Amino acid sequence: MAVERTLSIIKPDAVAKNVIGQIYTRFENAGLKIVAAQMRHLNRAEAEGFYAVHKARPFFKDLVDFMISGPVMIQVLEGENAVLKHRDLMGATDPKKADKGTIRADFADSIDANAVHGSDSAENAATEIAYFFATKNIHSR
Ligand code: UDP
Repeated sequence: MAVERTLSIIKPDAVAKNVIGQIYTRFENAGLKIVAAQMRHLNRAEAEGFYAVHKARPFFKDLVDFMISGPVMIQVLEGENAVLKHRDLMGATDPKKADKGTIRADFADSIDANAVHGSDSAENAATEIAYFFATKNIHSR
């Protein structure tokens, strides 16, 4: 299986709940390595740019407002099948529909405040990683 990279964001609700470490432990236990990380309080332009693909969606403004409501923890995860493995750990977008034991089932409050973001394809992962990280700041190991 191919070693991949994916972009993960621990959203403001989960940072506020002080569960960064618990979420990192789930990544590590699943064989995903954190190869880059930064804590950031995004501004509106940064959040709008990141979610540009959702610009026409009715929830876009609320999503951006939420993403700039507090600091986020952004990381690059690396490992075999990282994109899908990370999505499995996250669970469904709506925490009410997320499988038991997933990050969203355990830490998310609602579809808006749903604890984590994860790239949904290898192609999008490359774009999202480049949005936040220079190649020299990613430490493959
Ligand atoms: N979102 C929302 N309302 C919706 C659908 C999505 O607030 O009805 C937000 C939610 O925070 C979600 C993000 O928009 O995580 C991106 O949506 P997507 O469908 O890409 O879900 P994800 O890939 O995050 O599971």
